[in-house]
Amino acid sequence: MHDTARPRRKLGVMGGTFDPVHHGHLVAASEVANRFELDEVIFVPTGQPWQKANKQVSPAEDRYLMTVIATASNPRFSVSRADIERNKVTYTVDTLREMQSAHPDAELYFITGADALANILTWQDWTELFELAKFVGVSRPGYELNTDHLEEHLRDYPADAVTMIEIPALAISSSECRRRAAEGRPVWYLVPDGVVQYISKRHLYGPAETEGKA
Ligand code: ATP
Ligand code: MG
Repeated sequence: MHDTARPRRKLGVMGGTFDPVHHGHLVAASEVANRFELDEVIFVPTGQPWQKANKQVSPAEDRYLMTVIATASNPRFSVSRADIERNKVTYTVDTLREMQSAHPDAELYFITGADALANILTWQDWTELFELAKFVGVSRPGYELNTDHLEEHLRDYPADAVTMIEIPALAISSSECRRRAAEGRPVWYLVPDGVVQYISKRHLYGPAETEGKA
């Protein structure tokens, strides 16, 4: 019998460069999953991120594997190769279109930090973004969490098109992790243990070997 009463699956989509993935990303995903009762959060490492087109970004395969290592122990977290296999610059709208066609019955929640949300109007095809997913902006130390600049544009959308939530503040960024690794300073406890070891094994961010736990 056709089960019409079954609720739609709720899928979180966490896009990022993840160079490297760190505990700020994981806490953001976990908090949104809990708050919105998501069935799953799919981490989607970018191909070449368009806003970072002029910057040196680690190979997609390394960023993908670090994300797999970081999420492996959580049964509700998974990692998608969709963006890294598209072989072109990553736009969020392409990510969401692809997630929607892969999971046509699911309700999508795109998870983003306050900094990324602030730029939302500079994203390609932003009007379509709200048709594809609900957006959840999470607090991030150093960035203001507000949608004032979006209000005029959101007038025609449901009130839950964009929701802001406060999450435990973790002042961690991938840039700072890369800098620390390059200088031989520890990244232990900023990123999962397996990611520390992967960075060291692949010499990702500079000449210095990551030292043992201090
Ligand atoms: P980079 O310094 O290289 O830009 P990043 O730490 O900002 O790296 P990204 O891969 O650019 O990490 O971010 C992916 C997503 O995670 C973005 O939406 C970003 O806002 C969010 N995010 C990253 N770090 C945090 C954090 N500490 N707290 C909350 N959200 C975060
Ligand atoms: Mg960033």
